[in-house]
Amino acid sequence: MYDKDNIFAKILRAEIPCKKVYEDKFVLAFHDINPQAKIHVLVIPKGAYVDLNDFSKNAKNEEIEGLIRGLGKVAKILNIEEAGYRYLGNNGKDGGQEVPHLHFHIFGGEKLGKMISK
Ligand code: AMP
Repeated sequence: MYDKDNIFAKILRAEIPCKKVYEDKFVLAFHDINPQAKIHVLVIPKGAYVDLNDFSKNAKNEEIEGLIRGLGKVAKILNIEEAGYRYLGNNGKDGGQEVPHLHFHIFGGEKLGKMISK
């Protein structure tokens, strides 16, 4: 069940501010409030999807395309296409997902460490 009062839903409704990087019909991208790398941006779909389980089952094709294209556009805007970056999604309890609105993290601006540390 989607919680319409989660923090990213509030950002989408402009009830709380964000440092916006990019927005179109399908996605909003903004800087993470607690950056884990020199560049740390979140890319979220505008639709109300809890996680990838929900999105992959229920999103329309145009929303799925919009999210993936949005990720690419954000990497271009951040000027990290050439240097490289990491895109990451935490899903559910074992994945460590804190905010129950689907989001991808984009990390870059420096050489990143190991993919996983436990
Ligand atoms: P996750 O563990 O994948 O759910 O990550 C949630 C991310 O959202 C964390 O990296 C938080 O720092 C970030 N976050 C939480 N609240 C805000 C906010 N108001 N604006 C920007 N980023 C936020």
